[in-house]
Amino acid sequence: MRLFTTVAGLRCYLKSVQKKQPVATDSAESTIGFVPTMGALHTGHLSLIERARQENQIVVVSIFVNPLQFGVNEDFGRYPRTLERDRALCEQAGVDVIFAPTVAEMATVPPIQTRVQPPAEMMSGLCGVVRPGHFEGVATIVTKFFNLVQPDRAYFGQKDAQQLAILQQVVRDLNLPVTIVPCPIVREPSGLALSSRNQYLSDEERIKASALYRGLSQAEKLFRSGERVSATLVQAVKQELEKVPSLQPEYIELVDPMTLKSLDTVTDEGLLALAARLGSTRLIDNTILRDRRPIIAIDGPAGAGKSTVARSVAKQLGLFYLDTGAMYRALTWFVLEAGVDLRDEPAVAELAHQCEIDFQTDTAIPVVLVNGQDVTQAIRTPEVTAHVSTIAAQAAVREALVKQQQSYGRRGGIVVDGRDIGTHVFPDAEVKIYLTASIQERARRRQLDLKSMGQPAANLADLEQAIFERDRKDSTRTISPLRKASDAIEIQSDAMSVADVLNTIVTLYQEKTASLSLDSLEI
Ligand code: AMP
Repeated sequence: MRLFTTVAGLRCYLKSVQKKQPVATDSAESTIGFVPTMGALHTGHLSLIERARQENQIVVVSIFVNPLQFGVNEDFGRYPRTLERDRALCEQAGVDVIFAPTVAEMATVPPIQTRVQPPAEMMSGLCGVVRPGHFEGVATIVTKFFNLVQPDRAYFGQKDAQQLAILQQVVRDLNLPVTIVPCPIVREPSGLALSSRNQYLSDEERIKASALYRGLSQAEKLFRSGERVSATLVQAVKQELEKVPSLQPEYIELVDPMTLKSLDTVTDEGLLALAARLGSTRLIDNTILRDRRPIIAIDGPAGAGKSTVARSVAKQLGLFYLDTGAMYRALTWFVLEAGVDLRDEPAVAELAHQCEIDFQTDTAIPVVLVNGQDVTQAIRTPEVTAHVSTIAAQAAVREALVKQQQSYGRRGGIVVDGRDIGTHVFPDAEVKIYLTASIQERARRRQLDLKSMGQPAANLADLEQAIFERDRKDSTRTISPLRKASDAIEIQSDAMSVADVLNTIVTLYQEKTASLSLDSLEI
């Protein structure tokens, strides 16, 4: 691991590693994952680093207590600075580079002249009321870091939900070439959200502070039981906080998680956010209230029977099987129709953003539509089959179609299979399955499949070798590598029939939905 304190050092390093990285065989270049922090690292930060490590070849962590985002009476001076400890934690977590510049190096004192000014209406509410200038300071420094590090992905905690929404807006408005990856809040066993500022709390205060999470949980339960009126949900939090008189709420509000506009009622999604003071410490926390049916994500190696299982699970539970393979086929058809060279990535990227794929689900076999045109048959031709892998291997294609899949999943009620559905496409899926089988068993199944299709007999050892190679490629590829989510349930299907696997997943789904509704009864 390298540590740089100067812009020159960092830039020189990044240039050298980018030159050294060979262009990977399956078409993608190496990617940089970036985790901006103010140091005093805890498990919350480490969860961001871990995710960046999983998804990128190079991981850069910045440690910088940014004066631009502190008000005059705030804790800039006493904010914990623990570089040596942070360094050891980063090293353990497999970070490649720490960038820990001085205030002078970042030209933040005296305050820099050029600032990033996010929309005033996103900065004025919630924390912005008592922290004027804070989000402008965050947006300015983060934009500077983006320019220096030039990351492909940047990881931010949902814990700072207003910051996240504002930075997403900045990235959209300025077309910054980075994907913001939101990461879930990491909490202590008591429910208290981890924060570097928790170091200011006494043991007694720590216990008291857990009331914030209890308040949010009460509102979550109420929401799950059908309550949608913001005032009632906010009141549920208030009541819980009132039980701890020394907790002084600053705000408790329900807003749209993207625009941060206040909501009277929650239709699809609401961000329930709060800030409170406890002694001299200011704490924030939040939760997303989401009205959607569950999502079942099934990942696993090739040949484990994911799509067969996913289709039957969807059928049995009355959910929609989101056929991501059909989406890649639909785009391939669209590119072929346009007469564009399939290896011309920029041209394909343009088409990927003009190709609106939809499914009509009220028919026995779902109808696939591209910009309103029925292509259900057209995407199954041998020509499409022959070219779909060339299209699916392109980073811009993956990005465009993942966005379409995510917007399809907004209302839930879907089953999706793939390699990185539970880790990347739907990291908040309610049920995550990692379906696997030994190489020997997958080879045996493949041999039977080939036989039943009347194909010439295949040697078992050759099939095993081919599956071994495919596994290796799938786990190491830069685009959508095979990943098991840490909260996925592994099903090892060697000794199981398709019906056994189906029953296991259906039972898990039913247990999950039952526990969600049980929660709401416990208010
Ligand atoms: P900070 O060092 O407080 O500026 O935080 C750096 C990043 O870590 C931000 O994206 C935070 O949202 C994120 N973060 C801080 N605390 C947590 C937590 N408890 N869970 C998840 N992410 C967090």
